[in-house]
Formats: sequence, structure tokens, C-alpha cells
Amino acid sequence: MQINGLSLIGSSTGALGDSSFNAIDPSTAKEIEPPFYAASADETNKAADLAQNAFLHYSQKTGAERAAFLRAIADQIEALGDTLTQRAMAETGLPEGRIQGETGRTTGQLRLFATVAEEGSWVEARIDTALPDRQPIPKPDIRSMKRPLGPVAVFAASNFPLAFSVAGGDTASALASGCPVIVKAHSSHPGTSELVGQAILAAIAETGMPEGTFSLLHGSGRVVGSALVTHPAIQAVGFTGSTAGGTALMKLASSRPQPIPVYAEMGSVNPVFILPGAAASNGPGLASGLQVSATMGVGQFCTNPGVVLVESSKTGNAIVSSFTEEMSKAPSAIMLNPGIHSAYTGGVASRSGNEKVNTLVVNDDDGVGCPGVAAVFEVSADTFLEDESLSEEIFGPETTLVRWNTKEDLLAVAEELEGQLTATIHGTDEDLENYADLVAILERKVGRIVYNGFPTGVEVCPSMVHGGPFPATSDGRSTSVGTHAIERFIRLVAYQSSPQSLLPNELKDGNPSGIMRMVNGEYSR
Ligand code: NAP
Repeated sequence: MQINGLSLIGSSTGALGDSSFNAIDPSTAKEIEPPFYAASADETNKAADLAQNAFLHYSQKTGAERAAFLRAIADQIEALGDTLTQRAMAETGLPEGRIQGETGRTTGQLRLFATVAEEGSWVEARIDTALPDRQPIPKPDIRSMKRPLGPVAVFAASNFPLAFSVAGGDTASALASGCPVIVKAHSSHPGTSELVGQAILAAIAETGMPEGTFSLLHGSGRVVGSALVTHPAIQAVGFTGSTAGGTALMKLASSRPQPIPVYAEMGSVNPVFILPGAAASNGPGLASGLQVSATMGVGQFCTNPGVVLVESSKTGNAIVSSFTEEMSKAPSAIMLNPGIHSAYTGGVASRSGNEKVNTLVVNDDDGVGCPGVAAVFEVSADTFLEDESLSEEIFGPETTLVRWNTKEDLLAVAEELEGQLTATIHGTDEDLENYADLVAILERKVGRIVYNGFPTGVEVCPSMVHGGPFPATSDGRSTSVGTHAIERFIRLVAYQSSPQSLLPNELKDGNPSGIMRMVNGEYSR
């Protein structure tokens, strides 16, 4: 497949517009051909209108038909082979193994949502049959299920050019539920986005899905993205990126004449709590595991451990010195794009300039392209509690160690934390018993609690929660990874006293879809 640099508006391509940009190779900071043309206002409107029309038909497709479509997308992405791998590597600086692994994660995710759509119980059908003789008034027949919301705008992430991008989790879950998708491509990997967009269009043609089920728009978030979110056809937004970007979209979506939900996954420092027993029994293992987690993917993961609580004790000091030593040996590596690189170096410079902060490591870079170097800072729990800037994410391979003296210090820091995607506790059985109140605090603060492990690595499976209270996400009731992600793009509809012929199959007598349903309060197939 060839990259044309044009938006994909249903089955047509956008025009060569006035405004264009090139992807940048972050290993050289040089432009990559070809130029990409921003979608015009007319093209954005056309994509939204097509999606609205497509919704009428796509939402009526059976789960098996949507499953075949999702599987065809996965097959088409795999067929892109090395063309996709090479382009993604050039646009992101990520190594071949990572891109191949992420391609597998993306196609695996699409196939997982295909099984969810095909199996069908996700609609949570409930049936309460009529009681015409009930006194004092008869009870009507009421049946309800989840129905798709309508066209969804997806803002692709920079740090997962495939798995959280054009055919990533937001798109897969929206398509599985019956919602058409319009993706605002991330400007840092437009060629990768276009290749995957073409794969989705090929799958639409192969499986006979309506035109407008998918479109891809290039261009600036503030112009093209804002026009998309404010278009009346759009009924929900999926986003992964910065707090500034996510909150700007929340504001836009809530100020529309018809406000719509925004599911934004934003910043997180993913605190790690090291309890005394674990520090004493596994200090060196903890220090090296932490270093691997903190530098994985040049620290550009939303689950990167940015804040680590270590006791001010002999065993705590040993962990700090091993971790510092390992981080000081971590080689500099290429970050995703010049914007992320400059935000990272600015964040590191500002924290090392904070006189209340002890700078333990800021490695030298090799000066080529967009190099990210490991950084480690140390502060007392009191300082951390006083200075809000210390709990802000520095997106990259940076960790701030917070030294605590008493259990009260530790609990005060936990209580002060804003919403987070994850929190990790390293503790022996005895620690976990002694610090049970820590778990109770964290349950209110985070989407996922990890015991004796590390937060990076988010398994795609039915029970995963990749969410958390604001500001980790815009809506702490949701997840953007795992099959619960489908619930972001639905609404409940009840049918009262409906004729059988007008009911969706999922709600008909005799259960023709064979799904799990609640009938008069009892689950059955
Ligand atoms: P970003 O700047 O938030 O951009 C993400 C997407 O949203 C892009 O398509 C962008 O458009 C669009 N956008 C941004 N601001 C917007 C606005 N005001 N109105 C409409 N659309 C808007 O995120 P990024 O480029 O991926 O990375 C920048 C920073 O975000 C990083 O340094 C890091 O701090 C954070 N980040 C966090 C995560 C996470 O998982 N939590 C992941 C990635 C990045 P453009 O194409 O015009 O930029």
C-alpha cells in the first residue's frame, strides 16, 4: 500500500489542502516524506455525515457480522507486514520488536472484541415479563439492553502508534458495539495511521460494511479535532494523551448544545509503595525491577512508575542506592517526537532546579535527534506534601523517590494523591496486614492495584481496568483496555409492551441469540 498523505473520508480520499505537515524521524529530527494534508472543514463535515448515515445500518448488523469485520481488520493489518513495521519505526523511533509486539497486541485486541460481539451477552439483556393480574395495578412487560450510542471520535495516542491508535482499543470497542468511528490521526505518526486506515477500509469493502463506518482525518487537534468533537453527529469521544488535551476536549464536548461523553485517558504518576518487610527481604530485586519498569519504552508509558515511596531506613537507603546506580547506567534512547522530548527535558530541568529536591541522577544525552535520559530525584514526604508540582507527571524515564519515616507519612501521601491509573504495593504478608489501611485509601484513588509487581505492562483481558478517577481519566467509571471498554459507547434502552416482531433478537422470547440474559431476576441462556 502507498501512503498518499490524504485523509480518508469514507471510501474517498481528501483533497490536497492549503495546510500540510511532515512526520519527523525522532532519531534524526529530520522530516519524512510524503507531506500530509489537513482535512478541510467540508471534509470533516462529510466524514461526520457519512458516519451518521452509516450508523443507521451498521448498528443493525448482527454480532457475527461485526465480528467478521473486526477479524478482517486484523487480517488486513497483518497483511501490511514490513511496510507497516518500517514506517512505524521511522515515525516513532521505537525498535522493531516493540512495533511487532504492538501489532500483535492490536490484532489480538480486535479479535478479542470480535469474540465479545459474536458471543453477544455484553448487551446485558434483561426481561421482566408482564403480570396483567397484579393488584392494585398490572405490571407491563419491560425489556432492556445496551444499544450503541452513535458515531465516535477517536484521538489516537502518540505513545502507542498501533494499540492505542487508529485501530486500537477505542476503535475496536466502538466498532464492536455498533458505533462508526472517525479517527483524528496523531500528527506524530500520520503514515502509520494512514496505512492502518487503509487496512480498515479494505476490511469494510471485504465484509460489506456501510460507507462511513470509518474515516481518518489528518490535521491539527485544535482545528480538525475540535470541529469533529463539536459536530452534532458525534456522540462520544475516546482520547489518550495529555491532561491539557483531554480537558480541552471535555470542555468542548460539555459546551455543545447536546453535551456528549469524553473518555480521556490522561496523566498518571502510578505511585509505588515499598513497605518495610519487602524492602528488607527483596531490596536488590526491587531496585532492578523498578529500573526496568521506569525506563521501559523510554518511560513513555501511561503506567510508568513516576513516584516511589521508600522508607528512610537502612534497607530503604540500600534500595535507593542500587536504583540510583542502575538508572545512572541506563543508556539514552530516542523519544517519540520533538514535542514529548522538549516537554521531558523541560520537566527534568525544572525539577532539578527545585531547591527542595535532591537530584540523584540526570544522565547525559548523546545529542542526536530526540534523546531521553534517565532521571532520579529524591524528596522527603513532607516536601512532597507541600509542593504540588512534585506530584505532576514528567512523561519519560524519570522517577521521584519520596522518603517516608512513619506509617502516618505514608498514608498522608497516599491520601493526598490525585486519581491514578495504578498504584503498586510491595509488601510481605505481614506488611499487607499492618498496612491494610493503605489498600483502603488506594481503592478510592486508582483503577488498578498491583501487588509485588510493576505497573508497566497492561494485559488485554476481560477483567482489566485501565482507568481511574480524574485526572487519570475523565470518567473513573470506565476503562480503555479490556472488554469493559465497550461500555463507554452504549446507552440503555428499555422496550415496554413491545410486540415480539419489533424487539431486537437479544430480547425476543426463546432467546434466539443464545446469550446470557436476566429473565424475571434470574440469569439464564
Ligand atoms: P496531546 O498533546 O494531548 O495530543 C493528543 C491528541 O490530541 C493529538 O491528536 C492532538 O492533536 C490532540 N489535541 C491536543 N490538544 C488538543 C486540543 N486542545 N484540542 C483538540 N485536540 C487536541 O498528547 P501527545 O502529543 O501524545 O503528548 C504530549 C504529552 O501528553 C506528553 O508529553 C505526555 O505528557 C502526555 N501523554 C500522556 C499519555 C498517557 O498515556 N497518559 C500518553 C501520551 C502522551 P495534534 O495532532 O494537533 O497534536
